[in-house]
This record gives sequence, C-alpha cells and structure tokens, in this order.
Amino acid sequence: MIDPVCKFDPRQIPDLARTKLVATVGPASNSPPLLRRLLAAGVDVFRINMAHGNRDEHDMTVQRIREAAREIGKPVGILVDLAGPKIRLGRLLEDPLELQAGHQVTLIRGDDPQGLYELTSNYAPLLDELQPGHELVLADGAARLRVVQKSSDAATCEVIEPGSLRSRQGINLPKTNLSVSALSPRDLEDAEWGARSDVDFVSISFVRNANEVQQLKQFLKSHNSEARVIAKIEKREALDNLREIIHAADGVMVARGDLGVEIELEKTPIVQKQIIRICQELGKPVIVATQMLESMHHSRQPTRAEVSDVANAILDGADACMLSGETAIGNYPEAAVKMMKRIMLETESLLRHRNSLKVRQAPDQTLPAPEALLLGAAQIARQIQARLLVIVTEHSTTALLKSKQRDFVTTVCLTDDQKAAQRMSLYWGVAPVMVAELDNYSRLPTSVVDWVRDNLGLVPPQRIVVVLDTAELPDVLDTIAVAEIQPG
Ligand code: ATP
Ligand code: MG
Repeated sequence: MIDPVCKFDPRQIPDLARTKLVATVGPASNSPPLLRRLLAAGVDVFRINMAHGNRDEHDMTVQRIREAAREIGKPVGILVDLAGPKIRLGRLLEDPLELQAGHQVTLIRGDDPQGLYELTSNYAPLLDELQPGHELVLADGAARLRVVQKSSDAATCEVIEPGSLRSRQGINLPKTNLSVSALSPRDLEDAEWGARSDVDFVSISFVRNANEVQQLKQFLKSHNSEARVIAKIEKREALDNLREIIHAADGVMVARGDLGVEIELEKTPIVQKQIIRICQELGKPVIVATQMLESMHHSRQPTRAEVSDVANAILDGADACMLSGETAIGNYPEAAVKMMKRIMLETESLLRHRNSLKVRQAPDQTLPAPEALLLGAAQIARQIQARLLVIVTEHSTTALLKSKQRDFVTTVCLTDDQKAAQRMSLYWGVAPVMVAELDNYSRLPTSVVDWVRDNLGLVPPQRIVVVLDTAELPDVLDTIAVAEIQPG
C-alpha cells in the first residue's frame, strides 16, 4: 500500500525548491515507509555511507530507494560514498581513555596494545611515515599529540591538547602528506558494488589529486557504470590541487567534517565559498555537507546558527545541501528534511524576486551554441512571463548547463532516460520528469504542450517555452519554441 500523502504530484513542480537536498540513509531512515515520507518531504538524492553498515543492508537500501521512487513517481539519485582511507585508532584497553596534557603515549605496530597508553591504528605504514615533530589530531579534534621520539617499532608522543578517546575514532595528520591512496582495495570493491547496483554517483573520500579522480572514473567505466564521480574535498592537499581536482570530477562535496580537522576550523567558511566559486566557474555541481542541522539529531528544532548555515550555503551558490547523521541515525529524520526544505524555499524566494544568483557571463561573451541557446530560452521565458521552461532532452549534460546558469525560471526536463533523470536530481533548479518515449515529444512542440497541460496542471492561456534538444534533425543543434497552452 502506498501512503497517499506520499504520492508525488508533478503539479508541485513550479513550487519546488531550486537547491537540491541530499539525505544520508541509515538505521533511522531505511524502512520503506520512511524512505517514501522523506522523498515526499523533498529529498532529491539519497546517500549511502560505505563506512557504516554492511553489504546486505546496502543492497536492501538501494532496492528500497528504487521502489519508493517508483511508487512516488519522482526520479531520485543514489550517491554511494566510499569510506576512503580513513585512519582510525585500534582498540583501546580503557574505553574511553582520558589523555592529560603532558602525558606521553606510544603508537605501536600491530593491534594488540599491552598498556593503557599504547595506541594502535588500522594503517600499518603509519609508523614508518611518522617523524619527530609531526602532529596527530585524534577523534575530530578531541585531542592532539606531537611525536617526540621515533624508533622502528614505536613513536612516542606527547599530549599537547588533552581529551577523551574511544576505540576506532579517527586519526588525522593535518600537516603531513601521507602516501596512502584515496582508493584502497576495499574502496574499489565498494565502487564495483556501486557499479553493479547501478547507482548514479560515487564519491571519493580524502582525494588528494586529479589522478585519483581519473582512476575512479576509469574504474567505473571499465565496470560498465555511468555513475558520476563526486570529489570530496576534505584534505589540505586537495586544497593545493583544487582546480585540477574539480576539473577532473563530475561534482564536488565540501566535506566539512574532516576538512575542519585537516585545516584550521576557522578557515572552513571561506574555503567553502572558494570551492563553490570554482565549481560555478567550471560548471560542476557542488554539495555542502556535514553538521548542517546537527542539533536535530536530538531536537525537533535546529539552532539559529544551523538555519543560517543552510541559508548561507544557498547564498554562496551551493547546488545541494546534505543531511548526514540527522537522517541516518537522528531522532527526527523527517522533521530535518522538512526544515531544510523550508529554509531553501524561504531563502530562494528572495533570490527569485531579485534573480540575483545570476552569476553567468556578460551578454556579449562568446559562448558555445547550446549554452547561448539555453540562456536565450530563459531570457525569452522571463520576458513573456512564461509559466515554465521545458527542456526535452536525453542528456543530463544539457540539464547541468542550464542548472549552472542559475536562472530562476521554473525549468522542467522531460526525458525518457531513467539514468539521466536520476542524475538531474542533483542539479540545481531543474526538475527531472520521466516520460514514456521521447520520440512522441521530440518532433513537435505541440505534443509537449499537451503533455504539460495534462500533467503539470497548467491552464490556458498560460505560455511555456520549449527547448528541443534531440538528435532528430542532424543539422539543427536545438530548437526553441514559444507555445500557448490550449484547451484539451
Ligand atoms: P565517519 O566519519 O565516522 O565515517 P561520518 O560522519 O562520515 O562518520 P555520516 O554518514 O555523516 O558519517 O553519518 C553520521 C553517523 O550516522 C555515522 O557516524 C554513523 O554513526 C551513522 N551511520 C551512517 N550510516 C549508517 C549506516 N548505514 N548504518 C549505521 N550507522 C550509520
Ligand atoms: Mg566522514
């Protein structure tokens, strides 16, 4: 039985938020009814974090998301987030372990500590790479160590910031470039699973350079996957190679969790803006992630600061905002999605009015034909006060070009390619809609007009602008038509 409140009604499209919403699935949200409710509340992309859960659970989650999307009738993207080479503490003999300032602790090989203050890690080469003077940040900044002495089997460290540790919490070395690759054998296995499961996006964690992005792209391609690669920016080294990483990737995530440990926390807001600006320039979608509505793990209401954080990410120009633990393990997953959606709509209402996220080129700049055509179509739609811009396309690339023009004209992308529709779910300002067969729509704008009248609830005499982006006429790149909704 489908919960009737969950049915997605395409007539909502003109009122949909432009910014897309990514929600992490976990024990708090992976039941079919909850997935449907989260979709109805406005989730566009579901994220599965491979650092948690197990293969059977992930298989079930993918299947349930696809089912829920079919029932609701809304294209939904699935993003598989590879765990990456996150270095973690091993088992502690005392858990939690309190470290006092000035204490000495020893990092040893293996996974069998003998004393309370012996620490182990899941990354065997760590001891070889550590040198006196190196600093280790533990548990997302809860404590900090400095290596004072190093032998072949142990590194003696002084506690420079006291704190409490638990087994298997993270270890970061913000000032040290380690040799560990962003794609461990386990990540490649998970990527292969993603390819088999036909997911839409795979994100690479702790990426350091463009090569690693290319490597994952090629790996997915060789496994017959069309999944797009999202580079998670969360290391200092990634910031050094930012432009080339973004250029190589299909999309970017500002992964503020580890980023806030790898660089000074106070630098993250400006780094977020810089990453978003480069993504805008290079035409890549960008997701802002981590702690966006953190307090909603345990509270129905976010803090004022969290509400501002989401609004400011939108003002910065983010394509999507992400919920992590709020929907994976929080007590109020649906309330968190609804709250985020409300912030999006409210923040955008001002922008819509001023059309002020317009960031794209000056009118006299030379542009490739498809971009110029899309800009022109939006301009026409505004000037004739059209209700909708409808793009008929088989390609998510056309939708992405339109998305990055950051125009507030309500845009619907009709496509018969399920995967293209699912990818568009991440792109700002375009609403993907599946139609049975594009051939029926691509020849004549009139059939599009009838479809819009019958399915999107537009009444005569409203006008729409239609862009046909099809290979029907080989010599014509695209066509624009202005049409008036006719009585059925
Ligand atoms: P870590 O950095 O420790 O890998 P994270 O912050 O990247 O965690 P998120 O995806 O943001 O993890 O999710 C927040 C929390 O939700 C995680 O720390 C984990 O406790 C929990 N979580 C997420 N997905 C799952 C899952 N599939 N099963 C169980 N718990 C999960
Ligand atoms: Mg993380």
